[in-house]
Amino acid sequence: MTRAAQSSGNVSFQAPAETNKTASIVPQTLPTVIFQGTARCCAILSAMPLIVALAALVTSALAVAQPADLLVRNANIYTMESRTPRAKEIAVRGDRIAAVGDNLASHSGPNTRVIDAPGATLVPGFIDSHGHMRGLGESLEILDLRHSNTVSDVVSQVKQAAASRKSGEWITGRAWDQTRWPGAQFPTADDLTAVSQNHPVYLTRVDGHAAWVNRKALELADVNAATSDPPGGKIHHDRAGRPTGILIDRAMGLVGRKIPPSTPEQIRNRIARAAEECARLGLTSVHDAGTSAEDLSTYRALIQGSKLPVRVYAMIRGEGPLWDQYCRSGPEVGSLLTVRSVKLVADGALGSRGAALKQPYSDDPRNSGLQILPKSTIERVAHAAYKAGLQVNTHAIGDLANRTVLDAYAAVLPPGNDRRFRVEHAQVVSLEDFALFARFRILPSVQAVHATSDMRWAQQRVGPDRVKGAYAWQRFLALGLPIANGSDFPVENANPLWGFYASITRQDHAGAPPGGWQPDQCMTREQALRSFTLDAAFAAFEEREKGSLAPGKLADFVLLSRDIMTIPPAEILETRVTHTVLGGRIVYQEKH
Ligand SMILES: [Zn+2]
Repeated sequence: MTRAAQSSGNVSFQAPAETNKTASIVPQTLPTVIFQGTARCCAILSAMPLIVALAALVTSALAVAQPADLLVRNANIYTMESRTPRAKEIAVRGDRIAAVGDNLASHSGPNTRVIDAPGATLVPGFIDSHGHMRGLGESLEILDLRHSNTVSDVVSQVKQAAASRKSGEWITGRAWDQTRWPGAQFPTADDLTAVSQNHPVYLTRVDGHAAWVNRKALELADVNAATSDPPGGKIHHDRAGRPTGILIDRAMGLVGRKIPPSTPEQIRNRIARAAEECARLGLTSVHDAGTSAEDLSTYRALIQGSKLPVRVYAMIRGEGPLWDQYCRSGPEVGSLLTVRSVKLVADGALGSRGAALKQPYSDDPRNSGLQILPKSTIERVAHAAYKAGLQVNTHAIGDLANRTVLDAYAAVLPPGNDRRFRVEHAQVVSLEDFALFARFRILPSVQAVHATSDMRWAQQRVGPDRVKGAYAWQRFLALGLPIANGSDFPVENANPLWGFYASITRQDHAGAPPGGWQPDQCMTREQALRSFTLDAAFAAFEEREKGSLAPGKLADFVLLSRDIMTIPPAEILETRVTHTVLGGRIVYQEKH
């Protein structure tokens, strides 16, 4: 379906050169060179008619000399622009959109690459507002336990890994979920020790808030019956007082920090692989929710080598030297890499009962979860961010954590401000606290796929009353708040079409439950597409640059095999991304 008028070679994963600047984004104006070169002649009044004629000639000649670099024709385009929501063609010059309309044949020149796309749907590039790039790269390398249905499924994967590795080498894995297994009990170190005595094993839960380790790993970390819980963490013990091998939140680090650190080369390969995966899935921007100095230098190296096929909006991982540095320098705004926010974590997750609740868990009456950061710390960071023109994005899942974050932000933000501080997840919110989001213009950054992963047990955890404020997207939308959508990859699959599907159905991939879980909170298709494009861009101060298709904006868009705005929901899951275009370059193209 692609015709390249010019032999463009292999354009995959090339990206425009990066030019970072510490200034706010101003959309680049379109070239206006057509009247240049005529001014010198203007003094010769007698020649005026000739000049006018010449100018007209020059104008038309330059219009042809400045044709589009890329032209997509005959597509079914959703622009996300309210005045011209639909179109058939889009023309790109350089990294910007030159025109959007129904017939742009006049923009075609001898060197224009034309994609004739009858039957294809074209939408703005998807933006994932909350993902973990390095984690995604790692997840493509380590044991993936997401599809294990029993403890023994996991154990057999570990057994296999142990057989192929040198004694003493770590075995790591991710995404186990005991709620999917018969009995739904946490597993134990002994299950793993049975197949791996000499390899330390460290497996993280699907939400990243619990680790399951074997005896060898506990030994190496000196975790035994006498070890007390670290602040913000919990070591599970059996009746005899021995650690069971399950470590919650901050206790994970007791073992986790014994794993040898990755080399810069490993990090670079992982991030590069993650970025390729994003391009394949139609993501043109990702908000990286927790970036280290190492990650930033990796991004810069990839950009220099033209090997970053996705734009990154980086959140600095917590306080520390990197945060201090940006508090001094202010935001760094670039085309492929922007650093202007910090990521904090206020509590744990609901699945592992680490989310901080105002009242105890409905299915664990002695447990109210874990508050990881006190309000005073969040307030301190919010204050520094406000002064430096930076944004604060704090993970909050339980209703207590959400309230704590809202109160901390409210202590710093004037009502009606435009600082766009965010609550990451905003999962369980007390009904009376929603108004605080609106009053202080605090943005919810949600992951629709979390709702469909958690819906099987969410009500057991929080009971019938609190669940009314859980994953309650329409409550935010009714307050006029934009919702930034995302996946929290690799916690969930990074595919934005899965997120879109979850947003509009609140069903699993088999269509259960019928009608959707708490269906009054489903998004409409327009709201869902907006949450993955324009509103996600807004949550990064980038709505003037991306998120919709209009002349002057970045040419970031994707072509889809089906019309996700009209097909039956189940078909959304079968929809394929055929092209991902980033700044006018095709960074992914489906192979036939
Ligand atoms: Zn996350």
